Amino acid sequence: MEDTSSERRLVLVSNRLPYQLQEKKDKVTIKQSDGGLVTALKSYFEDETRENVFSHKIWVGSADFPETRWQKFTKQKTGQGYFHVEPIFIEPRTYNKYYNGFCNATLWPLFHYFTSYVIYDEEAFAKYEEVNKLFAEKLLTILRPGDVLWIHDYHLFLLPELIREKMPDATIGFFLHIPFPSYEIFRLLHREWKHKLVRGMLGADLIGFHTHEYVQHFLKTVRMVLGHDHQFRGIALGNRTVKVDLFPLGIDYDLFHKAIQKPSTIKVREEIQRNFADRKIIFSVDRLDYTKGVTHRLRGFEKFLDKYPEWREKVVFILVVVPSRVIISKYNERRKLIEEHVGRINGKHSTLQWQPVIYRYSHLQFDELCALYQVADVGLITPLRDGMNLVAKEYIASRSGQKGVLILSELAGAASELGEALLVNPMDEVEMADAIYQALTMSLPDQRHKIAMMQKRLIDYDVRDWVNDFLQQLADVKTEQRMQESKFITPAVASEIAAEFRKAKRRCLFIDYDGTLVPFARHPREAAPGKEVIQLLRDLSADERSIVTIISGRDSTVLEEWFHDLPVNLVAEHGASIKKNGNPWIHENPDDQGWKQVIRPTLELFAQRSPGSFIEEKNHTLAWHYRNVERDLGFIRSRELLDSLFHLIRNASLQVIDGNKVIEVRVAGVDKGVAATKLLSESCSDFTLVIGDDKTDEDMFRALSDKAITIKVGHGHTQARYSIPGQADVIPFFKEFLR
Ligand code: UDP
Repeated sequence: MEDTSSERRLVLVSNRLPYQLQEKKDKVTIKQSDGGLVTALKSYFEDETRENVFSHKIWVGSADFPETRWQKFTKQKTGQGYFHVEPIFIEPRTYNKYYNGFCNATLWPLFHYFTSYVIYDEEAFAKYEEVNKLFAEKLLTILRPGDVLWIHDYHLFLLPELIREKMPDATIGFFLHIPFPSYEIFRLLHREWKHKLVRGMLGADLIGFHTHEYVQHFLKTVRMVLGHDHQFRGIALGNRTVKVDLFPLGIDYDLFHKAIQKPSTIKVREEIQRNFADRKIIFSVDRLDYTKGVTHRLRGFEKFLDKYPEWREKVVFILVVVPSRVIISKYNERRKLIEEHVGRINGKHSTLQWQPVIYRYSHLQFDELCALYQVADVGLITPLRDGMNLVAKEYIASRSGQKGVLILSELAGAASELGEALLVNPMDEVEMADAIYQALTMSLPDQRHKIAMMQKRLIDYDVRDWVNDFLQQLADVKTEQRMQESKFITPAVASEIAAEFRKAKRRCLFIDYDGTLVPFARHPREAAPGKEVIQLLRDLSADERSIVTIISGRDSTVLEEWFHDLPVNLVAEHGASIKKNGNPWIHENPDDQGWKQVIRPTLELFAQRSPGSFIEEKNHTLAWHYRNVERDLGFIRSRELLDSLFHLIRNASLQVIDGNKVIEVRVAGVDKGVAATKLLSESCSDFTLVIGDDKTDEDMFRALSDKAITIKVGHGHTQARYSIPGQADVIPFFKEFLR
């Protein structure tokens, strides 16, 4: 579908709408929620220094107000918020199973590595699917060709695919705000859930995470669950490439930094300072959540008071816990544990003039929050796991005169950007106690140096840069996809190429064998060339203006057997052995075989465990073929083998290739690109064509991109200039050359 309108619309989707409806004396008004994504996006679009490409911004999400109130609101026509709001009304029981069930009692604990808290409930997953479908239905009534759809977070993993099925051309971005765990954790989910969640996400064109680690975990998960490999973080899926990348969420730096001079904040700050006049202040604020590590933090603080008694009465710890997810029992249990712990520390250490922990269980007003960030000599932010942790960044932005020390858990996403903080393992109470001591005694120049470095980083990539970066990359991915789509050779282009070939005085053809000249067979030996292929090669090479090179992963013995009486060049094992027409074979590094002894036992183990698979040994390659293994088993085993091999070959000059039903290990530095470049440099040519179907042929496409017509056989992402639909189209394509 072509976008015919001049409107450009951005459609944002999150589980909850960031708007509330307030009803007073029959009048309903809309109010934007504080903080978070909505404020960030609004300030991005209001920034006049940026080009705003969207004429309409729509926000779709579930409503936490009744439908009747919404109807009253729309009848009043009092005007919408900054974003045009589209609420989804979900039956409360369904919402509860979806939100408090699968989202927050399965995905949330699992993705934060709290495996023993995970509840595996089929009904909750069914409701998760149901709600994702409700979102899809609503969106399909709104979306138009040309819209940009940006879906947020773990509540809506299935949504990208649901939209893609109905709108194959849609532009879809997905961002995950929580960690993406290691595959060893993710695999604990039921098989069907795993598949659906990963497939669901891959419906997007661009998938964003906070850190490099989460990106790696996701890419490995995609490989293990669905078998799709990636190249430069691009996953080739049929006719579409999905890009995966990191976009560390920033904060609205100015909002927090300018609050240092805001009169309403100064007033609160001065009150707090009066209360704790001579004492150092340690501060933390978190939502009530077991992932935030509050009890571990209290243990660390208690250890500090025990280990460094000289600091008693000289320091207070202001601990604010913000209510959250009160319906889930694990959260209420957490609150009790925290309060018992606070009571114990205060009971043990308080004096008539001093209470070590000042505890508050409530939401904070913005001024209060900023004032606390500003008075705190130490920010103590120690989650056990956190996707990013914005509080840490807000604390840094709030420091005036670049004073202050941040103690940060190394398990928060923010740690990868805030390396100057005192990074601690939140499970280690002694380490935390020592870090508190180090923070309280840190020299002023050290504090200033560290805060200055971190502030600069937060200014350089604030929340507006984050939005811009994501939307820009989404547009780039789409452009790249369109370029891929336009690669299929039309009959007119095929005739043009054939005409150029006929006209040329000197032609070089580099032709891959398996999957290009012949289809794949059950066993490599069965894929011998038929009469038609031999005749074609004979005809193509008969003209002395043409140099034909068969360039293959096969070994030299088999190529020799099949093609010895043709006047062609042969390249075996991806370039490790080369035979120029009329000359003997030249083998590269033929003696260097020691590595095979290290690799072979692993391949043998997998051959034993996977009936139907076998090992093929070539001069420079060891290959494990699994075309004949039962499909699912072959797939799982191949992923496991890849994983083992990647570890095994680390720091060795070997490479692993995940081919078409074969995994090959071969000497690095040898590839078809290097071989084809060498052969081409030895013979001048005014028509060069390269054709192949596999990953190993991409090396040729890249190496000869500016010298040759490059053609990929089959669908999928490629570096080649053109694509041809399948192997069966190759022979007719070449026959046109001979007309
Ligand atoms: N925050 C808030 N109300 C409060 C205290 C804090 O809205 O009473 C904000 C705080 O400014 C920060 C966010 O809540 O922007 C917490 O984000 P973070 O990434 O630290 O943790 P999350 O709650 O998202 O897990």
